Amino acid sequence: MNININMKIFKNFLKRGIYVCLVIFTSLTLVASNGNFHHAAGNKDLKTDENCLIEGASQNLTSQKRPCIVNPTPSLTPTPTLNFALPQKERFLAFITTRLPIIPNPGSFEYIMLRQYGAPFITLNSEIKLPPKVFFPNPQETRNYQTSLVMGKVNSGNNCFLQKAAADAFNIADKQINIPLKSGYGSGDCTRTYETNLRFWRKYASNNTLERVKQGRETAILNVVAPPGTSQHLWGLAIDLRVSTAAQRKALNQNGWFQTVETDTPHWTYLGVPEEKLPDFGFNKKIVRGITYWLTPL
Ligand SMILES: [Zn+2]
Repeated sequence: MNININMKIFKNFLKRGIYVCLVIFTSLTLVASNGNFHHAAGNKDLKTDENCLIEGASQNLTSQKRPCIVNPTPSLTPTPTLNFALPQKERFLAFITTRLPIIPNPGSFEYIMLRQYGAPFITLNSEIKLPPKVFFPNPQETRNYQTSLVMGKVNSGNNCFLQKAAADAFNIADKQINIPLKSGYGSGDCTRTYETNLRFWRKYASNNTLERVKQGRETAILNVVAPPGTSQHLWGLAIDLRVSTAAQRKALNQNGWFQTVETDTPHWTYLGVPEEKLPDFGFNKKIVRGITYWLTPL
């Protein structure tokens, strides 16, 4: 009898031991994966979702297995074919329909933003994660998207991060020929938070300006600064540079980087598409004061 009781206690003890080990192991794995993301992101400006880890650790084992970081597998569906029977605008829209869940109505604020900043939706780089919309209405939605990105460090400057595929492409160009950041330092030139986007907007514009943009009565400001929640810099796909030579431009173009916002000369966008293919997507080539811009056909 005593032996049986002892065996029972021992078995229970063993069960608890296994359970505790599992909990510790799972927690350690979570901490490690979270740490890796911090390393990959490496940007003080972009934080991982802390709630995810805390929430997982305090609940049962099944919820602990829930990954804190959205699976970084390529988000793009197989490349849709271009329909050359369509005019430029319709061809562009038909192509991006597979990447942008809701194509905004012409004349709406979102449509104006898509026309102005929507160039990256044609990317052919499957490692790029496109935003689910062209306008993030608040900091939280922006962060939710940003924490799902795989980030990489740009070798120019000290604190410049982009989506890894975009950073890698930039670093190849920068290795070919030195390309300094606009500020020479970093974070504001690269991926920005919603708050930074808002701060920059307020430097140049007001609520009144935003209203006029929404009504389609003001467009010039969009070549200077993006309205809050709409900047390509939120997507980790834009960088502000000090480019002065044709050789620098060539290196950038050859690595999928283009100027897509007319007259915003420091602003470069990662498209991940060879230059000769851009007209196929409907893009218009516009040369202003010797600088080539590739503009959406909207
Ligand atoms: Zn910029």
